[in-house]
Parts: sequence; structure tokens; C-alpha cells
Amino acid sequence: MMWQAAKRVIEKIEQAGFEAVFVGGVVRDFIIGKQSNDVDVATSALPAEVKAIFQQTIDVGIEHGTVLVLDEGEPIEVTTYRTDGLYTDHRRPDEVQFVRTLAEDLARRDFTMNAMAMTHTGKIIDLYNGQQDIQHKVIRAVGHAERRFQEDALRMIRAIRFSAQLGFTIEPDTMAAIKSLAQQIQYVAKERIHAEFNKMWVSPFPAQGIAMLEQTTLSNYLQGSFTASDWNQFQTDNQLVGWAYFYILNEEESFFAYYKCSNKEKVFAKQVAQAYRRLHEGWQVLDYFYYALEVLEAAYDIALWRGDNIAFSKQEIVANKTALPIATIQQLAISGHDLMQWSQAKGGAWLKEALHAALLAVLTKQVENNKDQLKEWFHDIYQG
Ligand code: ATP
Ligand code: MG
Repeated sequence: MMWQAAKRVIEKIEQAGFEAVFVGGVVRDFIIGKQSNDVDVATSALPAEVKAIFQQTIDVGIEHGTVLVLDEGEPIEVTTYRTDGLYTDHRRPDEVQFVRTLAEDLARRDFTMNAMAMTHTGKIIDLYNGQQDIQHKVIRAVGHAERRFQEDALRMIRAIRFSAQLGFTIEPDTMAAIKSLAQQIQYVAKERIHAEFNKMWVSPFPAQGIAMLEQTTLSNYLQGSFTASDWNQFQTDNQLVGWAYFYILNEEESFFAYYKCSNKEKVFAKQVAQAYRRLHEGWQVLDYFYYALEVLEAAYDIALWRGDNIAFSKQEIVANKTALPIATIQQLAISGHDLMQWSQAKGGAWLKEALHAALLAVLTKQVENNKDQLKEWFHDIYQG
């Protein structure tokens, strides 16, 4: 689908008299035989020229030459051939320069496997032997490795992230360059590192990634402990679980701010950490009630990865959760209002306590979740 839409976009740009090709990750994934998550198109046309060709476009990053083309069904990113110039702040190129040849554009790309293009007829343009490197399963910087990492230090972590995703090794010169420039990683914007870690968590070989962060000494310049043996068992398809596990291995408050984690990531990680701690005393009915299934399952998996002893199977989590008489506090058949009416008393700390006691009584099946029974229970306990 996406390929088809991108192909139509390419053909249209060509009909307008410019060059356009598939480029980057999508070509790499095509050669590896892997499903790609996005399709990038590169073109000799300037952003204004691209916008003139299509009826519907969005400026998503026009200063970097990227226009999102919409009118072929799926949104396709079309980026003008460019070079990146200098990265004096170690974050972004100072200025991008649009160029007219594909070769100049490919030269700015990070690794040989990412520096290939493909025409809409399937012809591969491979100026740096990317296909051969893919065949040998190696990640190799385009051009002079040290210079390329000096331009943008994030590429060092990208090399490792790709290695975790593909199970490839890093070519010796590229590896040596990472080792000698590792300390430069401290200047890279943490949100960029965050994005690479997100991809590493859900990769097939996360432990390999962590091991390489250690071996290259990159880990010395990043917050948190990176110990490959902690990650040997780790496997997930949920990025949130990666952050939760990384947090549990560190448990330091500044962690979330340092890595620019979202609130969602932080809340999830903290809940998993708490559920994980509570697992060691055994989960009670209230734990099954309070924690979301994903939280419980993540905490359970983490216990497994860490080799903790757990006396029950993972299936029991779903069973215990579905066996709860109610799933949310809203489903409790009574409210604070009922309790105040029955007791003729004003609200206060007692009310919160009594509601909690009612909830626990229902969850432990001492009382059925209906108003009459709860009223009786309430009179027995509080007024008996
Ligand atoms: P993924 O499948 O994870 O999206 P990708 O190769 O598409 O992998 P992106 O981060 O989406 O990775 O980047 C798209 C392309 O842009 C890369 O294939 C590469 O050619 C180029 N690129 C991205 N980031 C850099 C960088 N920091 N330095 C040089 N080239 C880069
Ligand atoms: Mg991509």
C-alpha cells in the first residue's frame, strides 16, 4: 500500500521533470527482506517545486526540505536532496543545503546500508557497497568514520541500535571511531537518544545493544547502569516496558527528566516498579484491582528476566483479574452519598475508610456487590 502510494508520488514528480527515488531505511529493509515502517522519497525538486506538483501537502519540516504529500491516499515524506553542513552544537546541522544530485544526498547519510536509493522501476543505486555490507551483516560508516561521528555523535548510538535490530556487527574502523569519540555523546540532545533507545527496546537483540554501549564506553557518558547480563532475558514489543525495566535497574528520580521521558512513560514505569516490589510479598486482591493488566504482566516479566522466584504462572494474572467481582471503583454498588445517608453522619476521613472497607469486602467476596447487602454489611460493621 505504502509502496504503491510512494511509487505514484515518484512517478508524478518525474513527470514534472525532476528526479525522485526511494531512499534510506526503506531500501535497506527491502534488500534485507524486512517489512518497513515508513517510506522515504528523495527528490531533486525543491520544496516549493514539490508543493506545486501536488494538490495536498503539509510542511512538516520545510527548513530541512521535507514536505508531506497527502493526495495519493497515504502520507508520503518527500525530502529534497540535501547536505547537512556542520553540527557545531552536536544536535542539529547548522543549516541544510539543498543540492541537485542524489550522490551528494547519499554522501551525508550515516551508514552504507542506509545510503542506498531505488528507482520506481526497482533499480538500486548503491554508491558505498551497502548491499555487500548487508550481505556480510556489517554496519559501516559512510566515508571517514571519525569525521562522521564528529559531525553528529548520535550516529554512534544509531550504529548500536541498528545492530540490536538487525543482529549485525559494527565494522572495525567504525567501532574504533566510536570508542575514541564516545565521550561526545554527552552533548547530544537526550530526546534523540530517547528515540533510538525506544527502537532498541523492541528490537530482537536488546542485550547485544546494551553490551555494545558498555564495550564502546558510551555507557560511561550516559545516566544509568548498562549491564548486559541484566538484559539477556529481556524481550518486549512495548517500548514502555523497556523504559520501565531500565528504570527498575536504576531507580533514580532524575532518570525520567534526564532521558526526557513522557509522563505516560514515567507513570507506567513507576507503577510497574511498585507492582514489581509488591510481587515479592505476593499480589493480593487489591493489587489485581488497582494495577492495569499491562502493568502486572510487565512486572511479572521483569521478575522472570531477573531470575526471581515466582510461584504462579503468567496465565493466572488474567484469571485473577477477570475473577474480580468489580473492575473499577465506579462499579461499586454504593457511593459515599449512600454511606452518609445510612449513617446520618457528615463526610470526613471515616467516609474514605468505610468506602475502602466496602471495596475490600466486595473484592474478597465477603459481601455481594449490591446495595441491600452492602447496607446490611455497613450496619453490622459500623453501627452493630
Ligand atoms: P527506521 O526503520 O528505524 O525508521 P531508518 O533508516 O529509516 O530506520 P530514520 O531515523 O528514519 O532511520 O532515518 C532515515 C534515513 O535518514 C536513514 O536511513 C539515513 O539514511 C538518514 N539518517 C537519519 N538520521 C541520520 C543521521 N543522524 N545522520 C546521517 N544520516 C541519517
Ligand atoms: Mg525511518
